[in-house]
Amino acid sequence: MSTTAADWIAIAKQVAANPFVKIACPNCSEGYLQILIVPWENNEPKVDVHLICEHCGTRNTITKEAEVVGSVSNGNAFG
Ligand SMILES: [Zn+2]
Repeated sequence: MSTTAADWIAIAKQVAANPFVKIACPNCSEGYLQILIVPWENNEPKVDVHLICEHCGTRNTITKEAEVVGSVSNGNAFG
């Protein structure tokens, strides 16, 4: 059996939580996944997360919403 989409989605969530996490390859369980996050080049707030096993070479790409951090609008304080 090869890996399922659910495996990769779970991995993408771990990467989102911590881009420096070491994740064992779900295919061979011997290598770790290299993580490459590439923002889209147009205005869409999305990134491609490339996951490549350094041991068996399996790879997957997951597109996810980029997270927008710390933009709080408070422009109407005086009503
Ligand atoms: Zn592998």
